[in-house]
Amino acid sequence: MKVCNFCGNKNFREKHVQYIYRHNEQMLVVSNVPCEECEYCGEQYFKADILKKIEKDFTDIYVEGKKPEREVKVPIEEFAKI
Ligand SMILES: [Zn+2]
Repeated sequence: MKVCNFCGNKNFREKHVQYIYRHNEQMLVVSNVPCEECEYCGEQYFKADILKKIEKDFTDIYVEGKKPEREVKVPIEEFAKI
C-alpha cells in the first residue's frame, strides 16, 4: 500500500501534469506527464521509468542535439531588481 511521504495519506489520484526538469541552468518542460497526486497534500509522485525517460530526452536535446517539439523564451529576473 502506497503512503504519502509527507502527510501519511493513502489516497492518490492519477493525473497528467507539466513536469519541469532542471539541470544547472538548463531546463526541459514536459507536458502531460502521468503521475499520482496525494489527495490530501497535493504532493506528486512520478514513476522511476517516467523520470528516466524525461532525463534521457533532456540528454537527447542538450547533448545529442535533438529538436524538441517547441521552444519558449523564458525571462529571468533577480528579485531585488524588480
Ligand atoms: Zn500527502
